[in-house]
Amino acid sequence: MAIADPRPARRIVDPVLMRELADAGQSGRLPCLVCAERYTEPHHVRLKSQGGDDVEDNIVFLCKRCHGAYHGSPYVPESGFPARVDAGWVRFRLARYLESDKGQHVRAYLVGKMGRGAADVYLKREFGIQS
Ligand SMILES: [Zn+2]
Ligand SMILES: [Zn+2]
Repeated sequence: MAIADPRPARRIVDPVLMRELADAGQSGRLPCLVCAERYTEPHHVRLKSQGGDDVEDNIVFLCKRCHGAYHGSPYVPESGFPARVDAGWVRFRLARYLESDKGQHVRAYLVGKMGRGAADVYLKREFGIQS
C-alpha cells in the first residue's frame, strides 16, 4: 500500500459552472433525484467540505427540500409533498442512483479523485453502499 500523500488534493472551484448548473436546475428540466420535483439545486456528491470538486461528475440535482434535508435542515411537511423526506431517505435514494447505470460517472469521478479504496469507504459511510 502506498504511503498517503499528506498534502490534500487541490479542490477544483468553478463558480461559473456552478452558476450554470444552478440556472439549469431552475429551468425545470432536471428533476429532483429523490422526489421528482421539477425545480432543483446542484448538490455535490463528494461534499465541498470534504474536498469535492465543482465538476459535473460530482453534481446531482435535488429540490430545495430534499437538499436541505440531506444537509440536516428540519423538514417541514406540506400537503402534496412526500412525508418520508429526511436525510436518511435522501441518502437512500442517492445510493440507488449511484448504483444505477446513470450514476456510474459519479462513481468513476470518486474513484479518480480518491482512489478505489477511499472511494469505497466514502460510498459505504455516506450512502451505505457495499462495493
Ligand atoms: Zn426533492
Ligand atoms: Zn448539497
